[in-house]
Amino acid sequence: MSRPIRTLFISAEVAPFAKTGGLGDVGGSLPKALAELGHDVRVVMPAYKNIEDGYPGVEPMPGQLDVHTGLGTVPCGVFQSTLPGSDVPVYFIAEWHLFKRDEIYGYWDDPYRFAFFSMAALELTKALDWKPDLLHAHDWHTAPAITWLATAGQGDPWFQGIASVFTIHNLAHQGKTNWHIFDYMGIQTHSLNDEAYGEVNFMARGIYHATMVNTVSPSYAREILTPEGGAGLDGLLRHRAYDVHGILNGIDYQSWNPESDSRLPHHYNVTDLSARQKNRRALQEYANLPVKDNVPLVAMVSRLDWQKGLDLMGHVVHLLMNGFSGDAQFIVLGTGEAHYENMFAQLASYHRDKMTAFLSYNAGLAPLIYAGSDIFLMPSLFEPCGLGQLIAMHYGSVPVVRATGGLADTVHDSITGFSFFDFNVESFWHALQRAIYIYNVDKESWGKIQLNGMMADFSWTRSAQGYQQLYEWAIARTLGG
Ligand code: ADP
Repeated sequence: MSRPIRTLFISAEVAPFAKTGGLGDVGGSLPKALAELGHDVRVVMPAYKNIEDGYPGVEPMPGQLDVHTGLGTVPCGVFQSTLPGSDVPVYFIAEWHLFKRDEIYGYWDDPYRFAFFSMAALELTKALDWKPDLLHAHDWHTAPAITWLATAGQGDPWFQGIASVFTIHNLAHQGKTNWHIFDYMGIQTHSLNDEAYGEVNFMARGIYHATMVNTVSPSYAREILTPEGGAGLDGLLRHRAYDVHGILNGIDYQSWNPESDSRLPHHYNVTDLSARQKNRRALQEYANLPVKDNVPLVAMVSRLDWQKGLDLMGHVVHLLMNGFSGDAQFIVLGTGEAHYENMFAQLASYHRDKMTAFLSYNAGLAPLIYAGSDIFLMPSLFEPCGLGQLIAMHYGSVPVVRATGGLADTVHDSITGFSFFDFNVESFWHALQRAIYIYNVDKESWGKIQLNGMMADFSWTRSAQGYQQLYEWAIARTLGG
């Protein structure tokens, strides 16, 4: 192994303490995988309401932390714990005016809340007398830590020589706010080309100032360099093109394992898929569909957001349910934008004997859908990494995906699933038809595709090795120059 790297890992979400999406999974899993490679990783997140109200195993640290802002010193508290199943320390910045609220995001002062959090996380390293080799910050919320470290922070010898890595999980959310935030952070600076007059874009600043930048799949890393995929920041990203990398997320094989998943009625593994058939029947019964063993059971589990390709779904489900590829069943689990919920509710009401729509968030049902369906749909318009297809493959449901971002990197056509490139109904439908054809007439090839998916390695260990390499490059760059 390379020498142990001391990493300050800061994120607005860290599962299981706080999670709204993939960012939380990364926050909860990647530090553990890095620690298993021998690194000294310490995680910092805000103390949201659930922590302030008392979370099992989370203790207050003695004393207070004085955070120096450009407008004066603000004291806060710190709680501490460890990531479950590890001894990786987690620190929680406790400032109840800012973080003890019902939701994690969505407030008028979000930029201030997370700028404060970012600065407190850096300050904490002094209180712990633990100087990191590297700061790893995630998405716009923690970009201010990168910006401050590269600018005002360089006036303090403690913060000199610390490398930084900025990870983009979703370029769609950038954290735009007004210029005064820099007074608060004690930063004097000039505007970037990507910022409107008087405006600060947290994400743009993180990209600009980080030693290294990465996103969560190699294909998404290339796509964000283009005007189509760059969400207005492609110019800045191209400026840093040589420092923008892509590292796939992993999945947590301890919680996502068909052999031991407690949410499944029947367990199975690659050596014997017969119990899968039982899950399939259980799913059909649960969904109130006829229990049939030989019709393709097609499914989707997703946030109902335009990003997920739902504008293609209506037409494709219509063709599928009207028998254009013979008999088929369809189950969707999802919640989100009202017009997509209405679309699925209406289609389900036409096709009661073939289709069921569960329009809610149901973490207990999702595993049964992965374990009981034959084909899993993910026709995303863009997808930074995507978790759904990874879980589907591991549970033996064959994905049909649009070849974009992480979907392009993880689903290989006719080997681990089926993919299409052009974002239109015909291409999607042809890919689904190919899958149904093989399912119906070539069981042997189908079985191979299923097993290839189940055995593919998308572990966090693999991701952590990628991050280790990126950390080493960032440190070499900082120390060398
Ligand atoms: P994103 O982070 O953009 O929502 P991902 O594919 O990376 O997409 O992750 C989606 C995760 O959320 C998967 O684990 C999926 O099973 C889960 N999920 C999405 N919608 C639901 C739902 N309605 N009920 C239960 N789980 C859901």
